[in-house]
Amino acid sequence: MKQPQSSEQSIYFEPLLPWQQSVWDNLTSRYDRLPHGLLFAGMQGIGKRGFVWRFVAWLLCDNREQVIANSTHGACGYCQSCQWLQAGTHPDLQVLPNSSLPTIDQEELKTSAKKSKGSKSSQKNTNKLPLEPAKTSIKVDDIRALQPFMSQGSSGRRVCVIDNADMMTVAAANALLKTLEEPRDGIHLLLVTDWPTKLLPTIRSRVQQVAINHIQLDKVAGYLTEYVMHNKSIEFENESQLSEQIKQALKLANGAPLAALDMLSSEWYSLRDTWIKVWLAIRVGKRSSIAASDYWQKNLSLDAFIKLSEIMLMDFSRQSLGLKPLQLDLKLEEYASIHELTLDSIQQVMTVIEDLKLARYQNVQDKMAYDRLLSELATL
Ligand SMILES: [Zn+2]
Repeated sequence: MKQPQSSEQSIYFEPLLPWQQSVWDNLTSRYDRLPHGLLFAGMQGIGKRGFVWRFVAWLLCDNREQVIANSTHGACGYCQSCQWLQAGTHPDLQVLPNSSLPTIDQEELKTSAKKSKGSKSSQKNTNKLPLEPAKTSIKVDDIRALQPFMSQGSSGRRVCVIDNADMMTVAAANALLKTLEEPRDGIHLLLVTDWPTKLLPTIRSRVQQVAINHIQLDKVAGYLTEYVMHNKSIEFENESQLSEQIKQALKLANGAPLAALDMLSSEWYSLRDTWIKVWLAIRVGKRSSIAASDYWQKNLSLDAFIKLSEIMLMDFSRQSLGLKPLQLDLKLEEYASIHELTLDSIQQVMTVIEDLKLARYQNVQDKMAYDRLLSELATL
């Protein structure tokens, strides 16, 4: 069993997650035959980016030859290359978008979170595994700016990471295609995406997909249980109850281990009971939807409230289809009101949620979004 990730380590040198071992072995054993372009694709919360940064460090490490004998090792952590990575100044690494580069600030954040350990909320932060960064679109000028780096002659290895590659504009993707068609020796182009189907087929056909999304589920539940027990990041009664909680969260997160862990330690997940109570109260008119909106505005961020509502509506849909709910701990089947719901009416609220998500990018006021969703839920 691997040690769970520690907040003291840089993301470049963190241990592999257990379900990534075979992918790592496969990739690192092909060092001399690695294709020019590699694609790391899979849904959010499976640990892709942690894997990619570890791989980048290993590719560039001056002592790779020494550590290669045992391929479970990543980079050495102390050579010039490894030090440059930690300082965020590696001359042989380019990252798009810039905000995706792991920086010293992030390392400092981790350290300060550790120092302020004590309150419940800061402990949660310390123990949180890294999730995905915010998305920025990648434009043709960004790709053009990479060209000198991609075409310069050099004896060593150079790596270019394009994170959220699905966010490339068509012009950007076409510019990148040229680079992929005419690879230079020693250059590794690593594309990362949560949405591989959004990549242009011409790009997809020029890169080799790494099987990072093949998760050996048998290795996941045990690892997460041990991680939680070690870090005490979630409250639980006993080991078997924790194990049930983890299994449930994994189902809700479509099997993405880190997303499940993030869900379990999130504030909204512990408010699922409250969501039902508030919904029942507005449905029978005991509480106005405006009052309910005020309540949620004070208690949960809009993104979290939307996530919470989505999970609840997903299980409502299952009920109305005659399927068992995924959230067994809530005993949803005991609420008669849920059985009365039609799939159409649930779908209507889901559509409103999709609208609200889009509106988030147009800076629609949060209050309006809460009000709209709650008034919609009142009519459900
Ligand atoms: Zn090194």
